[in-house]
Amino acid sequence: MRHIWLSIFLSLSLYADAHIYLFHRFDDLRYPTTNTSTKELKTFFDYLKNNHYRVIPLKKLSHALKTNSKIDSKWIVFTIDDAFKSFYENAFELFKEYNYPFTIFVYPLATQEGYSDYMSWDELNITSAYGEIGAHSFSHSHLVGKNASTIIKDTNRSLNIFKKYGFDIKSYAYPYGEYDEDVFKIIHSFDFETIVNQNSGAIDEESNRFNLDRIPLTGKIDIEHALHFKHLNATWIKPSKYPKDSVLKVIKLKIDKKFKSVMLYVSGFGWQKVKVKEGIIELLFDKKLSSKRVRIIVKSDDNHYSTKIIVKD
Ligand SMILES: [Zn+2]
Repeated sequence: MRHIWLSIFLSLSLYADAHIYLFHRFDDLRYPTTNTSTKELKTFFDYLKNNHYRVIPLKKLSHALKTNSKIDSKWIVFTIDDAFKSFYENAFELFKEYNYPFTIFVYPLATQEGYSDYMSWDELNITSAYGEIGAHSFSHSHLVGKNASTIIKDTNRSLNIFKKYGFDIKSYAYPYGEYDEDVFKIIHSFDFETIVNQNSGAIDEESNRFNLDRIPLTGKIDIEHALHFKHLNATWIKPSKYPKDSVLKVIKLKIDKKFKSVMLYVSGFGWQKVKVKEGIIELLFDKKLSSKRVRIIVKSDDNHYSTKIIVKD
């Protein structure tokens, strides 16, 4: 009996973990795949406010992970990549109105060159009073497959420019959300407090603050879907990288023994049900990959997600 009540309690209280969302452009209809309408955003903000979610700075979430503190399931973090001008012109006021902090991941090349679509240093300076500025590489080039010295140089170049303009950088977001073990090791060797990716998932106490999932929100925001993610603690074993011959032979990972089966997704191949044996998922996949960027996603019945991204160099 006690067990039943405990299960019910757990299923209710674990409804969701903390969530980090990712935006690019606002009210910019030229780029529908990376655009969010501020009308949709306002509806989402109202929902969060009315349902007692708390929008917190990324550094607060990261600090809780660093200090093994409790992660509050009502915590929400907002991040904006690339520093497009449409954030400054169309969304900044809304964030201010709700008093919602944010992190803007900037790649200084665009700002330095004064590309018309991007925020200026002055504009970044103004927004930084309400949010954090993070690094998004210097040149926004693909990092997977680049040699270590190129990545180190690119990162240092961005940090030096940020420093010149008075920004103290504590977090990093991979360009295109692309990384592998080599890229991770190099970026991790810098002093960042937090590294974020671009895989849809949530954050709980077992999350790694150097590999945090972010959920992109574009087009029409499905609020229930946006909030349904939970973190799945997984150790990915295979593949470790994009296969040289593009044939993905085996998918193998370790998850909690309590899961008996999961749904597994591979970009280009859709979802399939897979059995878990004693916490091990091992699937002979043996298919030729067609896209350069492939996500392998594992999802439990109760919406715990873990993603492995592999990128062709
Ligand atoms: Zn970007």
